[in-house]
Order: sequence, then structure tokens, then C-alpha cells
Amino acid sequence: MGRRRPARGVVVGPGQDCAVVDAGRGRWLLTIDALVDGVHFEPAWLSPQQLGEKSFLVNASDIAAMGGQPRFCVVNLSVPPAYRERDLRAVQRGIVAAARRCGAAVVGGNLTRATALSVSIALLGTAPHRIVTRRGARPGDRVYVTGTLGDAAAAVRLLQANVAAPSAPLLRRFRRPTPRLRAGRVLAEMGIVSAMIDVSDGVVQDLGHICRESRVGAEVRTAEIPLSAAYRRLHGKDPRLALRGGEDYELLCTVPVRHVSTLQRQRARLGCPITCIGTITSGRRIGVVDDTGRALPLAARGFDHFRA
Ligand SMILES: [Mg+2]
Repeated sequence: MGRRRPARGVVVGPGQDCAVVDAGRGRWLLTIDALVDGVHFEPAWLSPQQLGEKSFLVNASDIAAMGGQPRFCVVNLSVPPAYRERDLRAVQRGIVAAARRCGAAVVGGNLTRATALSVSIALLGTAPHRIVTRRGARPGDRVYVTGTLGDAAAAVRLLQANVAAPSAPLLRRFRRPTPRLRAGRVLAEMGIVSAMIDVSDGVVQDLGHICRESRVGAEVRTAEIPLSAAYRRLHGKDPRLALRGGEDYELLCTVPVRHVSTLQRQRARLGCPITCIGTITSGRRIGVVDDTGRALPLAARGFDHFRA
């Protein structure tokens, strides 16, 4: 894959038993993720090229969540015997194209026969000077999220319902997530976030990961949840899909109050909107309140496309 001129840092590229990369000095982030047919997508929902792109982008989102920069990846494609060669090449093209757009290179791959199509990618990225994890949120910290929530989940609803002309902006958000690499890097470099995660399972569930790791609770105000115009056209101000739907690939972070004004001043550097949606509390639970202050009964678990 990606047999063009070697990308920066690639000493020996694909085609040998191993790739050789010049990792230089410093610390590295390493992550792996997989998209599996029937678990994470239906083949009709994504073209082979889109599947390849998305497989890379969801990995890059994990690197963004730690404030890093994607650099090198290796890919495993598990492919049913009936899968067409042409489609396989399109998957590979999608991975290579998305990697390049994010400043990374595909340095190796493996192909294996399987009963279900799946794409697994292991991605190496450079770490920021200040490591940001899910641990570090403190009571009183403000909870912020980038971009808008619920768009991909709303798209999945449309795809599941076989809607004739599904909303293009929503579909785009499902098919081509935008890992918030710049925002993650800037937030980590500025040293103003106490914890960070990317929103893959739904904002309530992913906030739950921060709270568990940090041994705190949180209160989320639904009136503050950023919703796109496309989302509001279908769901009005109903925040449920935005709270529980998955695959947003936005960043969720906590900011100590003393850093809030710095964030406000520097927000243009992030390259995307960022919105305060709540506060970290000392309790150990996540509360969700509507615009009248009333608590909403919300299961703190994400949205699973294939759950009945
Ligand atoms: Mg993640």
C-alpha cells in the first residue's frame, strides 16, 4: 500500500517483512482500532473507499484525544473470499488518502481471509510535551466539547430506515469523521485541559470514562449541547441522540476554571468551535439537566447501532 515516494521518517516502506521508521527522539502514542462488517457498519452504508478512509480517521481521533500527531500506521484487512479485488483496492486507497491528509503514512499491511470484512489499523503518533489523559478532571472544572454532537447517530437512523434522500451533511459526518487533530494539539500544548477523550461511544458514555478515571462526577446541561442545523431540522432541540449517539469523533475535555478565559481568548486557534456543556462535580454520577434545570433520566451508556 502507498507505494509512492516514501513519506517523511519512512526508512523502509511497505513490501518487506517489516517497515523501518525513523522515530527520532521523544515520546510516542500508539493505538489500534478496527471496523467490522455487521458490528460497526453495514456494507451498504459506506463505499469501500469510504470504509478505508473512516478506518484511518477513527484511529486518528484517538491520537487527537491525546494531543498527538499521527505519523505511521500498519493495516490488517480481513476479507471474505467473495470480496472483489477492485473493492479491496478502493479500501486501501481510502486508508492511504486519509492517512496522507492527516500527515501520516501507511508503512505496512497484511491481508487475511475471514468470514467478515474488517479493517484494523495500528497507528503511531508523536506525543505532545504535556501528556493529557482521561485522568485529571477535578470538581469545578468546566466540560467542553468541540464541533456538534449527534450528527453521525442521526445519519445512522436515516440509513437504518432506508430514507430515500438522507441528509447529506449528516451522512458526511458518519462517513468521513473529522479527527480534531489541531484542536487536540493546541489544547494539550496550552496546558489548559485537565482531561481529554474523543467522543466515539456517545458524549454521556465518554464523559463517564473521564469521570471514572478521575473519580469525579459531572452535570451536563442539555440546553448547551451544540447541535448542527442538519440535526435540528430532523430532531429539533431533542438532545437524546446527541447525548447517547456515537461516532461523533469530537473532543471532550475538562478545563479548570482558572484556564477558561485563556481558552476563550485562544479559541480561534483550535480550528473548530468549542462549547461548554457542563461542570465536573464531586459526586460520582453523571447528571443531565434540561433547560428548566430538571434532571433527565438517561442511561449512561452509548448508542449501539445493532442493539434492538
Ligand atoms: Mg477514543
